[in-house]
Amino acid sequence: MGETAEHAVVIGASIGGLCAARVLSDFYARVTLCERDELPENPVNRAAVPQGRHVHMLMARGAQEFETHFPGLLQDMVANGVPILQNRPDCIHFGAAGHVLGTAHRLQSEFTAYVPSRPHLEWQLRKRVLALDNVDIIEAAVSEPRFETTRERVTGVQLESGAVLPADLVVDATGRGTRLPVWLQKWGYERPREDVVFVGISYASQRVRVPDGLLTEKVVVAGASRAQPRGIGMLFYEDGIWNITTFGVGKVPPPQTFAQMCGLADEILPAHVASALRQGTPVDEVAHHKFPASRWRRYDKLDRLPRGILPFGDAVVSFNPTFGQGMSMTSLQAGHLRRALTSPGADVAMQCVRATAKTTFPVWTMNAIGDLIMHRATGPTPWWYKPVGALFDQFLGAAESDPVLAEWFLRRFSLLDSLYMVPPPRLVGRAIRQNMRLWLAERRAAKRPVTFETMREPG
Ligand SMILES: Cc1cc2nc3c(=O)[nH]c(=O)nc-3n(C[C@H](O)[C@H](O)[C@H](O)COP(=O)(O)OP(=O)(O)OC[C@H]3O[C@@H](n4cnc5c(N)ncnc54)[C@H](O)[C@@H]3O)c2cc1C
Repeated sequence: MGETAEHAVVIGASIGGLCAARVLSDFYARVTLCERDELPENPVNRAAVPQGRHVHMLMARGAQEFETHFPGLLQDMVANGVPILQNRPDCIHFGAAGHVLGTAHRLQSEFTAYVPSRPHLEWQLRKRVLALDNVDIIEAAVSEPRFETTRERVTGVQLESGAVLPADLVVDATGRGTRLPVWLQKWGYERPREDVVFVGISYASQRVRVPDGLLTEKVVVAGASRAQPRGIGMLFYEDGIWNITTFGVGKVPPPQTFAQMCGLADEILPAHVASALRQGTPVDEVAHHKFPASRWRRYDKLDRLPRGILPFGDAVVSFNPTFGQGMSMTSLQAGHLRRALTSPGADVAMQCVRATAKTTFPVWTMNAIGDLIMHRATGPTPWWYKPVGALFDQFLGAAESDPVLAEWFLRRFSLLDSLYMVPPPRLVGRAIRQNMRLWLAERRAAKRPVTFETMREPG
């Protein structure tokens, strides 16, 4: 390890900060997590994490990664009522870019996913971190890290109370609102370049109690498409309540009331799901959230970073939330941090941000293609995004009626197997053949009534 291993400070005790603290606890004698928000004893929403009120999908890969850092987590979640999805055909309805996949057939290989609410997952991680002997979580806001010009390194943090915590490593896990770029500039370093996709997403969410026996599904997703700029995510959580999140992309407003949410469900969800929702009883108020842009701060492109500071979690990259990847991608960063800390003589921060860039690139690029080509987003659009987007639309069209293609997509979407959404030639050929079959069947069907009508036409 390239850093002295006495004391590490992590700013922000949300999913990112908790993951970082867990890894650091194996390498530093002491770890202190500083959180400006009040930390509840129970799994409830926190004021400083407003996104927690909206549906959070945990990808199958994310669950696996969290389990490696927090052994026993998954079993404990299930024991606490967190629904588990196995590859049963009726537990998920999944619509992406106007195509519905994977519901009609049993998937062939094992596929297990978990459906914890965002507050539940954070509470599970927090109680595990609190149980570590060498980690303290303190409720204190950090005003900024301390930087020593002569040594060109960060030496600790200054709290808003005025107290100073000396540290050998400071991790910035303060989320999308991070001020690290500003601090870097102040210390005489370059700010990182930012890759931005202006997605213009607005969320409106409502918790709903649906009468028992109406739905076998635990996850219902209908993403936005070219034709429909609004989408819905419905997750059945451990408290037995459905969280219904509706959203609009490209600055299109989402439904504002429960009645309007039911109206959207009638348009884009299967009839039995929309009907179950109408029979539901809303619990508490509709929550709103705006997410103007996906943002990737390119620390990996900088020539130098001061020693002793590491950006982490959403502070590095904040993905379009409607794809449900942020927490899972953060869990991958924890693996990068562990590997950097075990590399002899490594510059931990640089190694970690570069490894993060490698795993971010394929996911970020595929999201950008979907958003810029199909979801009315704006931002730099390389010429090849359009043909790739069109090809992918064809692939998803074929996957609607081909379980092998659907399974391939759902596994990749869940970040399993590989982060690259590039089908091998064998599957491209299969998609082309399937689309040909569909096209021929459509033509035959279209011809029949025309011939009949033509025969009846006078003259
Ligand atoms: C609307 C929405 C929906 C989402 N849906 C999904 C989803 O379906 N699936 C998924 O995987 N991800 C989703 N995400 C992303 C997910 O929420 C984040 O990736 C995840 O929370 C990790 O973020 P983080 O810990 O890096 O930052 P955050 O969760 O933003 O936490 C930052 C923490 O730092 C603290 N902090 C900030 N400044 C200071 C300071 N100066 N001193 C002390 N503490 C400070 C804050 O109080 C907060 O606790 C969604 C995000 C949004 C916005």
